[in-house]
Amino acid sequence: MTAQRVGAWLAESWAVTALTGAGVSTDSGIPDFRGPDGVWTRDPQAARLSTLQAYVEDPALRRLAWQRRREHPAWSAVPNAGHRALVELERAGRLLAIVTQNIDGLHQRAGSSPERVIEIHGTMYEVECLGCGGRTTMREVLDRVAAGEPDPACRDCGGILKSATISFGQAMDGASLRAAIDAAAGCDLLLAIGTSLTVHPAAALVEVAAGSGARVVIVNASPTPYDDLADAVLREPIGEVLPALVQLVGT
Ligand code: ZN
Repeated sequence: MTAQRVGAWLAESWAVTALTGAGVSTDSGIPDFRGPDGVWTRDPQAARLSTLQAYVEDPALRRLAWQRRREHPAWSAVPNAGHRALVELERAGRLLAIVTQNIDGLHQRAGSSPERVIEIHGTMYEVECLGCGGRTTMREVLDRVAAGEPDPACRDCGGILKSATISFGQAMDGASLRAAIDAAAGCDLLLAIGTSLTVHPAAALVEVAAGSGARVVIVNASPTPYDDLADAVLREPIGEVLPALVQLVGT
């Protein structure tokens, strides 16, 4: 039983880094992007909403983006068994960090310590001005949209506002990236969960961990480019296999 073996590895690990992708949040009703039922698979035009250049150049696209943000399933989503299993892993003293590609904040809402969650693709709970870099809460800006501003501008500089997430064509946050690399290099077991491992630098973190001597375990429904490198690959549903693994750890 692969899961039994992975459970035994977890039980002897004291610095687990979890690398999580969209697959962790699909059980909470948030669709992934590249899966068979993914947002971009069903509607390639939706990818334009996440492309920086198109967003900056096209006011109509920005108005659409604000409407989509208002309707985002994350606002009403609740954390699932996969999120909760990682909270348990932290309580058992085994978790070094969660590096997540998700922007939905569900790890923190499940109870994971915010200081251990590294959001390499940013967060949809904040808004950033593309002009001055100023930040405000998403709630405040969505209130302006609801009050009749279809494409609110920065109140300080008049610049274009965007959710504080990383779009295509946009540089990643350097501090988050460094923290993620440290978390991959410093762990004794990397648990890649619900991520297709096709987007860099998240994918490269698997190589960093393996190169530092950590065990690599991939939990994902479909194959990834790193399955051959991994010490174990689990295909079972995340919401079932993750709680089962964490239960084998004990405290
Ligand atoms: Zn500004």
